[in-house]
Amino acid sequence: MSLEDHVEELASDLDVDKEEVRRDLENLVEYSVPMDEAKQSLRRKYGDGDSGGSGGTPSSKAISEVTTDDSNVTVTAVVLTSGRRSIQYNGDQHVIREGQLADESGTISYTAWDGFEGDLEPGQTVQFGNAGVREWDGHPELNLGQSTQAETVETPLDIDAEVGGESALAHIEPGDRGITVEVQVLECEEKVIDGRDGETTILSGVLGDESGRLPFTDWEPHDAIEEGASVRIEETFVREFRGAPSVNVSEFSTVTPLSEPVSVTEDAPRMRIREAVESGGQFDVELVGNVIEIRDGSGLIERCPDCGRVVQNGQCRTHGAVEGEDDLRTKAILDDGTATVTVILDDEITERVYGGDLDDAREHARDAMDKEVVADRIAERVVGHEYVVRGSLSVDEYGANLNATEFEEADDDPATRASDFLQEVDA
Ligand SMILES: [Zn+2]
Repeated sequence: MSLEDHVEELASDLDVDKEEVRRDLENLVEYSVPMDEAKQSLRRKYGDGDSGGSGGTPSSKAISEVTTDDSNVTVTAVVLTSGRRSIQYNGDQHVIREGQLADESGTISYTAWDGFEGDLEPGQTVQFGNAGVREWDGHPELNLGQSTQAETVETPLDIDAEVGGESALAHIEPGDRGITVEVQVLECEEKVIDGRDGETTILSGVLGDESGRLPFTDWEPHDAIEEGASVRIEETFVREFRGAPSVNVSEFSTVTPLSEPVSVTEDAPRMRIREAVESGGQFDVELVGNVIEIRDGSGLIERCPDCGRVVQNGQCRTHGAVEGEDDLRTKAILDDGTATVTVILDDEITERVYGGDLDDAREHARDAMDKEVVADRIAERVVGHEYVVRGSLSVDEYGANLNATEFEEADDDPATRASDFLQEVDA
């Protein structure tokens, strides 16, 4: 084979300009690189994903084979999701695209920087030549940039994953990008924050569907997002907020009102405490366990009038000596045999388990000349009993804390449960 033959073969295999290939090949051969090696090196340079022929293609990989040790790979995959996001680096505004790719072996996430020229339409099969690999959150992720060649491939791939990123709230995970949800807006409020360009208004609240509930933030308020509305939101990204996923709506998201209301589950998923704690956090979860102890800082407490933090000996951690305001709170340790969490009961639930309101608690403490009697009575009533607890679980350096929205004694005897219920109604 003459040099010209090799040039022909490479140019057609790699689909690149013949002149460019000839220049590169002549260069390498001039430096005494053997022809086979020179051709392999050019295949690597131009990112040949198809191994047909002599040179072989060491850089072409199945997704499951890509590791964080790779620097560059060629991957042929179906685009599952694609979401745009505006970020700032080197003082400039850039729009990047992010999402997931899949082939027969698995899925991988990607980030496409603004130099990348290629289609990322969900459903398309694309050969990404010379894609960079970086580590993101402990996993390999593809970096598509200026030197990545993208070529649409007609052959369909037999993939296991769903195209389009439509997801139920319960299946969303932090890091998901280009996600579409159909939800009812359960809570929604305007907030003014200090943004990149001064004060800006955002929306935040809670979304729900048949699978669960999650908090959301809309960074570019959309009119269709208001309390009670059922909407389809395309192109969201998911961040972690106190260990649980949070749906982020941006300037690139499309919000469409739905004519049929989205029904929202009444229930929270029930989990073992260990499972819930190991998940890193749950926005809305149900746990069942025994209260084994009431912690310090329960019962009749004082809060700082400025920040609401609990005041110890007349001192707020932030505001120093303050005139504390009385409040009721309970911190109960719940144990189900797999692990423990601290369940925090607000004033309303604490009133119920204490069996009296704030004035009753003040009088109780005054008579005994000891505030602790309030916490003591709460402990007498709840320690050793089994409870079904629902609320928001956060796991951080302060431990695993569940802010309870529901706290009911577990009781399998329907008669007792009914009489408890009647008592509550009468109360
Ligand atoms: Zn304070």
